[in-house]
Amino acid sequence: MSHSSLPPPSESGPDPKLGQAVFYARVALDVPLPGLFDYCSAQPVSVGQRVIAPFGPRQLVGVVVEVPDKPGIEPGQLRPLIQVLDDLPAMPVDWLRLMAFASRYYHRPLGEVMLPALPPPLRKASSYTGKRSGGGPVLRLEKRLKKAGAIASGFSGAAGLQTDAHQLNDEQQSAVSAIAAMQGHGVVLLRGITGSGKTEVYLHAARKVLDMGRQVLFMVPEINLTPQLEGVLRARFADFSGGHALAVLHSGLSDGERLESWLKAARGDARILLGTRMAVTTPMPDLGLIIVDEEHDASYKQQDGLRYSARDLAVWRGHDLKVPVVLGSATPSLESWNHAVQGRYTPLELTRRARETPMPDIKMVDTRRLRLEQGFSPQVVEAIEQRLQANEQVLVFLNRRGYAPVLRCTSCGWVSQCAHCTAHVVLHRMQHGRARLQCHHCGGYSPVPRACPTCGDMDLQPMGRGTQRVEEFLAERFPDARISRIDADSTRLKGSAERLFSEVHQGDVDILVGTQMVAKGHDFANLGLVAVLNADSMLFAQDFRAPERLFAQLMQVAGRAGRHRAGAQVMLQTDYPDQPVYRSLQRHDYKGFADYALGEREALGLPPFSYQALLVAEGRELAQALTFLEQMRDLPASRPDTYPTLDQVMLYDPVPLRIVRVANIERAQLLVESPSRPALQRFLTQWNEDLFQAGRQARVRYSLEVDPFEI
Ligand code: ADP
Ligand code: ZN
Ligand code: ZN
Repeated sequence: MSHSSLPPPSESGPDPKLGQAVFYARVALDVPLPGLFDYCSAQPVSVGQRVIAPFGPRQLVGVVVEVPDKPGIEPGQLRPLIQVLDDLPAMPVDWLRLMAFASRYYHRPLGEVMLPALPPPLRKASSYTGKRSGGGPVLRLEKRLKKAGAIASGFSGAAGLQTDAHQLNDEQQSAVSAIAAMQGHGVVLLRGITGSGKTEVYLHAARKVLDMGRQVLFMVPEINLTPQLEGVLRARFADFSGGHALAVLHSGLSDGERLESWLKAARGDARILLGTRMAVTTPMPDLGLIIVDEEHDASYKQQDGLRYSARDLAVWRGHDLKVPVVLGSATPSLESWNHAVQGRYTPLELTRRARETPMPDIKMVDTRRLRLEQGFSPQVVEAIEQRLQANEQVLVFLNRRGYAPVLRCTSCGWVSQCAHCTAHVVLHRMQHGRARLQCHHCGGYSPVPRACPTCGDMDLQPMGRGTQRVEEFLAERFPDARISRIDADSTRLKGSAERLFSEVHQGDVDILVGTQMVAKGHDFANLGLVAVLNADSMLFAQDFRAPERLFAQLMQVAGRAGRHRAGAQVMLQTDYPDQPVYRSLQRHDYKGFADYALGEREALGLPPFSYQALLVAEGRELAQALTFLEQMRDLPASRPDTYPTLDQVMLYDPVPLRIVRVANIERAQLLVESPSRPALQRFLTQWNEDLFQAGRQARVRYSLEVDPFEI
């Protein structure tokens, strides 16, 4: 954390009406400037307290980080705080430590870390200063809750849900015991095959912690994809806090709902906080256990602003508080797996399915010499037919939404391109038989041209297929089947994902067509066949993590099949049946895959055997971005004395992003790598300062990401 104190840009001088007693406050503000800002106050302030401070013509909520005896700037230039907020006690010290760590590690100003970590009403000055602010958001919420009487539990949709605790099998039992036996901090990596009952382990471990009067933070990648879990938690822990033990935190909540959950957890009223990545920074006074389910999931990584990994922050927080952390997955990230291999994490394993059903049989359908009909091999079509006749459900998995990824002119070869991005536009079917071209990068759309814009030919053909076209084909081929599609398009409206999933669970759907959304967490009881259509498209992606991601995704989607009975099958169509990813998948062999992949990473010096940071620059023209990056690549070597760890750091050549232009902005990136994390961190601290200066001069927007997930 930088202690340099820049004066707030003030036009007016100090307040002449200021009384005798003067206190000083060093405040973190959410502004894109490094450092902290000093103010004076007639009223005492304490560290962790929220305040409203003038900043230029604006008023901003900030957090007091220090109360110095003397200000860092001329007292005459100090401006007084507008308000010291006392609707909440000062933020707890462990929260301040977590924020300071995140600021340091991710190289972002403290204020840009702290303020976004608070629920919006607590960080907006207008919540306190506006005409209708009525004592601030906390008071308003309390009044509203009092008026509403007891808080509605919001417990719905759990009908038919099995919520009773299971008798644990021996593997589950020993996992729970091992977690309970942990003294203080330690990280457990719970690897359990799909359907092995990891959730049951979490719940039993959580109960032990709750019984000791401590709180539990339970993190999941996305809540709307696993609405069952909320119901199960509520029912299973109804004996705590009069049925109000659970608070839920995710981005689908309104500001008011978010504030309510946050307050319940921060005051200790909620004993379990179930949430997505944003939950990791919630103050919890009695925190005794952190669970990170599907720890490998990309959703734990924030992709803008502070690009943090909620899993990594959870591990840091557990360490700081001396509290155990359980990371669970069927396919752990190679980072976590390597920690376990090296003995830093305690490995626990669930090797059998909890319901004693066998894992589904996985069959590769070699498509090299097959004639496909709309992307389907005859074998897969026949298998679907058989499963439907046996009254079983079928899942068709395809990671591409829309009707067709591109529209093409058959006579001149024109293809539909986005006017603002270097990307094809995707043909989407709309309601009432209409269609349009949609860009998946900038979100823009345009009508489907009647004729080729280049040659005027009327014969424009959709090329390839997405979920909509697959759904259409299946409806023609299996006219009596009830077909449902679940992807980002069909679940855009609030509550629609829940509705579609519950139709599947109730058996109102015979064939489910879906993207990765359907792969996660769901316990489909009657699913007999999973058909995977275009996995190959992910095989040769440039990103070194692509095989890891593909393997995890395929294991997850395969794991939806046959959870409640034997005889289930997964069919994977591929032109490359001998790829190691597929071979390991076929044997359900995570360990084999992980060992192979880790060996490859080690040979190439890639993470987790090295540490990376990624600098992305953007401008109207690619040249601007590249010039800036080249300058930043060369700068450290020209000033070696300010970069003492430079000899341990490798700066790659700047390259354009794979999709160079998005929404008329062109982007390039520069990768930094080091075998030593401290050396990289030390380098980044200096580089970040230089970036700030150079970026201002070059008028280039940039972002620095530590431990980038996708390169
Ligand atoms: P995972 O998250 O590991 O894929 P789940 O936690 O969803 O697996 O559990 C799979 C299924 O097994 C669920 O339907 C769950 O209710 C059931 N289950 C879990 N533990 C047991 C147990 N000990 N005995 C019987 N069924 C169990
Ligand atoms: Zn044409
Ligand atoms: Zn676009």
